[in-house]
Amino acid sequence: MTKTTNRIALLSPSPGTQRHLLVHRYGRPGARPKAYLQASIHADETPAMLVAHHLMHLLDEADAKGAITGEILLVPVANPIGLSQTLNDHLLGRHEASGGGNFNRSWPDLYPTLPDRIAGKLGPDAARNVELVRAALREIVAELTPSSEFSSLRLALASFAVDADIVLDMHCDDEALMHLYSIPQHWPSASDLSAEIGSRATLLSEDSGGNAFDETFSNPWIRLAAAVPAGIPIPPACLSGTIEYRGQADTGDEINRPDAEALFRFLQRRGLIAGDPGPLPRPLCEATRLDATEVLRTPVAGIVCYRKALGDRVAKGEVIAEILDPLAQGPSPARLALEAGTDGLILTRRQHKMVRPGDCVAKIVGTEPLASRRGYLLQD
Ligand SMILES: [Zn+2]
Repeated sequence: MTKTTNRIALLSPSPGTQRHLLVHRYGRPGARPKAYLQASIHADETPAMLVAHHLMHLLDEADAKGAITGEILLVPVANPIGLSQTLNDHLLGRHEASGGGNFNRSWPDLYPTLPDRIAGKLGPDAARNVELVRAALREIVAELTPSSEFSSLRLALASFAVDADIVLDMHCDDEALMHLYSIPQHWPSASDLSAEIGSRATLLSEDSGGNAFDETFSNPWIRLAAAVPAGIPIPPACLSGTIEYRGQADTGDEINRPDAEALFRFLQRRGLIAGDPGPLPRPLCEATRLDATEVLRTPVAGIVCYRKALGDRVAKGEVIAEILDPLAQGPSPARLALEAGTDGLILTRRQHKMVRPGDCVAKIVGTEPLASRRGYLLQD
């Protein structure tokens, strides 16, 4: 057995209180490829933690057979801070309650000092360059000092992921089909991941503008590759992505155990676990640009009444939902129709039907970049 489990203490936020992370490590330390997976940095996104739980069991079995050939790190609960935040019986796991913002935004930018650290050392050997860059990235993370409980969480998670070949951040949406976010430089190389997990929309953006966890580890490679002279190869050496395990209510052994089996097969296909994963499933989508996915927002408050279901294909101009004003005196002024701004697939909706102005009521996966989708591409 190669498995070890480490308990990492976070910075204590108040006297008498301390939280911790658990990280399970499989395989020989330093073996390649290395994969890092974490669940539910948005702490109220429960399906991801159940997928991680089932994956741990599969990895334990494989480890007992001596089948772990790479190195795999798994953090089954990435956000104990968010998990502790309840208000009137509701778990509030998306934003840090003491003012630190969205748990999956504003991760540290590892790039600014990277070029100077490796100046003069890079050469024509891509594998050697990858080693140098990974060592520098490890150094950059190690030099950061936590100033709060949340930043100690960030730095611990970043230290696990920073030199991995594969980083998978497991989330879920509100009410949604399975989908995946990554960067264009990993397409079509990540088409095996997209097909294996059964992604219904694989959304690509080089920089979504939010400094999300996954981009922290893929972006430095892309920026460095663009900055170095010709003849110095810098491959996109970290395949990083965010997997959205459907909606918050889609939590259950019957759905999430097969999700874990799919990740296991992906890791087999990528050479981290011995054994035959079988044929790759038929892909359920082609990758599309993230700026071609419409975020349909309501301009008014009210009750959202859907006219379309998840998975429906819609045409631009079709009514997706109506926002009902429950204070209206009659039916005709009561409803505001929201129309699709693109042809596409209904990927997400809302579980809670009372909405406020600016709320996203649906995401529609189109293929043509939208004028409404420039700059910041994520949701807060
Ligand atoms: Zn999330």
